[in-house]
Amino acid sequence: MSAPTLTKIPVLDLKPEIALIRDELMAAISGVLDSTQFIMGPNVKAFEQEVADYLGVKHAVALNSGTDALVLGIHALGIRPGDEVITTPFTFFATGEAISHFRATPVFVDIDPVTYNFDIEKVRAAITPKTKAILPVHLYGHAVDMDPILAIAQEHGLKVLEDVAQAFGADYKGRKVGSIGDAGAFSFFPSKNLGAFGDGGMFTTNDDGYADTVRMLRVHGARKKYYNETVGVNSRLDEMQAAILRVKFKHIDAWNAGRREAAARYNAMLSQVPGVIPPATEDYATHVFHQYTIRILDGKRDGVQKALDEQGIGTFVYYPVPLHKLPVYKDLPVGPVPVADQLSGEVLSLPIWPTIEEGVQKRIVDALAAAL
Ligand SMILES: *Cc1c(COP(=O)(O)O)cnc(C)c1O
Repeated sequence: MSAPTLTKIPVLDLKPEIALIRDELMAAISGVLDSTQFIMGPNVKAFEQEVADYLGVKHAVALNSGTDALVLGIHALGIRPGDEVITTPFTFFATGEAISHFRATPVFVDIDPVTYNFDIEKVRAAITPKTKAILPVHLYGHAVDMDPILAIAQEHGLKVLEDVAQAFGADYKGRKVGSIGDAGAFSFFPSKNLGAFGDGGMFTTNDDGYADTVRMLRVHGARKKYYNETVGVNSRLDEMQAAILRVKFKHIDAWNAGRREAAARYNAMLSQVPGVIPPATEDYATHVFHQYTIRILDGKRDGVQKALDEQGIGTFVYYPVPLHKLPVYKDLPVGPVPVADQLSGEVLSLPIWPTIEEGVQKRIVDALAAAL
C-alpha cells in the first residue's frame, strides 16, 4: 500500500479566480463571437479608456505584449543606436532586450537588497553624456522610489520609461505606477496580476505625441490605412483578450488586496523562521505582490527549493541569472553589481495568488522550515 500523496501546490493557481467570474467571462467571450469583430473593436477601445482612468493617465494604448510596450515605448521616446539606458540587471530579459533591440546600450546598475529594485545612488553614478533614459522596473509589484528618479531625469534631461509588467495597480505615494514617468509598459501575460488568456500589453503616457507614435507603430507605421509612414509592427491586442481583461479588471483591486493579505500571513509565519528574509515594503509603496519573494541565506536556496519540490510545492527563482551574465551580454562592460549577483543565488518566490488559503501557506512554511 502506498502512502497517501499530498495535493500538489502550484506556484500560481489561476483556477480559483476563473471559477469566481466564469459566468461573466463566458458572457464576454460570447459577446465577441456574436459581434464577429475580432480586431480593434469596442472592447479594446473601452479597455484603453478604463485603464487610463484607473491609472490617472491621459493615454493607454493596447498592444500585443508587454515586450512590445517596452520596444515601441523606446522607439517613441526617441532612443537610438549608441544611446545608453540605465536599468536593473535583476529583471526579466525583455527589459534589456527592448533596449538592445535598437542597438542602444543597457547600463546595468546594482540593486537594493531590501526592495530588489535598482539602487538610486547607482543610477546617479552611472550617468554619462550618452545616457538618454532611465528604465525603472517595479519588480515583484513593489514600486521603485520614483521621486529621486524624476529629479535625476530632470537634472540631466533624460526620459523615464517604467516597466510596470509586474505591478498593475501598485501605488507610489498614492499615485499608480505607470503614470509617473514619461511612459509606462504593462504586460497582460496570463500569470501577471491582471492577466489575459494569451498575450497582451499596454503603453501608457500623458504625452500626446508618444501616444500618437505608438498607435501609429502598432499598425505597421500607418496613421491612415495603406498610407504607411514608417516601419512599424503588427502589435494589436485582440478583441477577445480585451473583453476578458475588462471582466478581470473589475476585480483587480480586490485581488491585489488578497495578495497583500496573503503576504502579511506569510510575513508573520516566516518571522519565526531563522535564515530567511521575508520581503519588506517601503513606506512610499503599496505592494501588489506579483511575487512573494524571500531570501534564503547561507547557500541553502537550491536545497530548499528541491526539498519543497519533492513535497509537491512549486516555487520559482526570479531570476537565477542576472541579465549581465547572460551569453547575449557577455561583451557588455558592466561595473560591479555584487548585490544582484548575490540575490540571484538567494531569492525564492513562494506560491501566491489572491485567494490562497492560510492552511496552504502554513504547509509551505512548515516544509520550508524543515528543509533549512
Ligand atoms: C512579463 C515581463 C515583461 C514582458 O511582458 P510580456 O507580456 O511577456 O511580453 C517585461 N518585463 C518584466 C519585468 C516582466 O515581468
